[in-house]
Amino acid sequence: MLSNDCLFCKIIEGKIPSSKVYEDDKMLVFKDIEPKAKVHLLAIAKTHFKLLSEADEKGQELVKYMLFKIPEIAKQNGLANGYRLIINQGDDAGQTVFHLHIHILGGETLPW
Ligand code: AMP
Ligand code: ZN
Repeated sequence: MLSNDCLFCKIIEGKIPSSKVYEDDKMLVFKDIEPKAKVHLLAIAKTHFKLLSEADEKGQELVKYMLFKIPEIAKQNGLANGYRLIINQGDDAGQTVFHLHIHILGGETLPW
């Protein structure tokens, strides 16, 4: 299920353009519009849920699917030397888009 007022759902629906690097029936990976590393990708599930803490059973399956698909996608995108995965959960983490996403950062030695 997608949401009408969610930026990332609009990206999934193609209503807002994105630079896609991977897509299948369950997930989409695209380039972050304001990259915080040389390579900065965002992985999202094609189901709307806001927060990791709000993932129901299906959401949890999707998070697991994405996590273990990411190594393959990372390799295809020049991240064979390593990468960092981040999920921002809620306000204290600075989450700005409330559709669960996994940041994939790399392409250089990361500062922390
Ligand atoms: P977060 O702060 O964890 O919610 O991350 C949201 C991320 O989405 C930020 O890194 C933004 O740069 C990124 N972002 C926002 N709008 C877009 C967009 N239209 N296309 C790609 N990335 C976006
Ligand atoms: Zn959404």
